[in-house]
Amino acid sequence: MKKKHKFQPESLMMSYGYKPELSEGAIKCPIFQTSTFVFKSAEEGKAYFELAYGLREAREKEEIGLIYSRINNPDLEILENRIALWEEADDCAVFESGMSAISTVLMEFMKPGDLVLCSSPVYGGTDHFIKHFLPKFGIHYLEFKPDARFDDIVEMLEKAGLEDRLRMIYVETPANPTNALIDLEDMGKLANRYSKPDKKVYLAVDNTYMGPLWQHPLRWGADISLYSATKYLGGHSDVIAGACCGSKEVIHRIKTLRTFLGNMAGPWTGWLLLRSLETLKLRMEQQARNAQQVAAYLQQHPKVEKVYYLGLLKPEDGPEYETYKKQCSSPGAMLSFDVKGGEPEAFRFLNNLRLAHLAVSLGSTETLAEHPASMTHAGVHPGHREEIGITGKMVRMSVGVENYRDIIHDIEQALEKV
Ligand SMILES: *Cc1c(COP(=O)(O)O)cnc(C)c1O
Repeated sequence: MKKKHKFQPESLMMSYGYKPELSEGAIKCPIFQTSTFVFKSAEEGKAYFELAYGLREAREKEEIGLIYSRINNPDLEILENRIALWEEADDCAVFESGMSAISTVLMEFMKPGDLVLCSSPVYGGTDHFIKHFLPKFGIHYLEFKPDARFDDIVEMLEKAGLEDRLRMIYVETPANPTNALIDLEDMGKLANRYSKPDKKVYLAVDNTYMGPLWQHPLRWGADISLYSATKYLGGHSDVIAGACCGSKEVIHRIKTLRTFLGNMAGPWTGWLLLRSLETLKLRMEQQARNAQQVAAYLQQHPKVEKVYYLGLLKPEDGPEYETYKKQCSSPGAMLSFDVKGGEPEAFRFLNNLRLAHLAVSLGSTETLAEHPASMTHAGVHPGHREEIGITGKMVRMSVGVENYRDIIHDIEQALEKV
């Protein structure tokens, strides 16, 4: 018997989950700019609500129909199905921002008295939410540095006497902006170690830097893979959005809270992301190729002290190299470097870029550069910031799809002014 051919996600991004016959034959999914949907009959409306509210099990082949755009909308549903395809996940939920995806996940799975164990550094907004918002609801946190190994974390947790309260492990890898790596397989084991039959410890991973192409947290035991879809998924610096992927059960819980918080993405955001996904792989692969060229150039430049890029890791780097080889299929397109000197030298470089833009955010078609210590990581406690290697001399770059020779030319002329 002939084996069924399995199409790759990049081949399906133009069609998956969309039926032209339901939209006058339009080849592209229209923007369903509508708040509510008309039921064919009262009986149909009743059936949809029964499923939406979980009042009964779905019959065979029965699916919940369209009700109201806070609950479901075709642009969102098709987008969610397509992101889930990249992630190899059962399901996905899309939000109006990365932060709303992250905060909704934390609120859904944590309750007063629980502990979240998180890696450090994490995205500034996440850091603030965990350290300043969750404690108001009696939710505790404990953080570990990227170089902490499995046994160090166990020791820290048990010394603090908090292992019984552990409810979620939340990690970001590679870390922004240092590209420090956390071993996801170890994190999965840690979550298992403290899970009990009546109390599961969830593992959530912010996969914005590498996903959905180059790192698959669910394969290593993560329950939730999170995205700022503003970054690579969107990829054009023109939309703010977020997403999370996981099992049917996990995403059902997240979508239920989303329905009540009302922080789902709108149809226009959904449509923009559908368009972006068609070129996701093309963009990301080109960006990663460019980043490798840029990193190699920076590495040999006399005014550059150190380059932080996964593609430069060597077997001598030990566990970090092994983790990279195991869980990342590409070095990605994010890099940071220290210029010789300090903040004044870093600023002179940034102020003299002509092709690259001086802006925060990342993962977009254009090359972006910024100064983590005074911009994206300005909110991190100065002592802690130095400890994790974010100093005045550091510049972060998100490499775009331009011709790499032009990016390097731009860096060269800006470094000349330093
Ligand atoms: C940008 C970003 C976020 C926040 O996403 P928004 O879409 O800006 O809300 C979270 N995590 C990481 C790693 C990010 O880069």
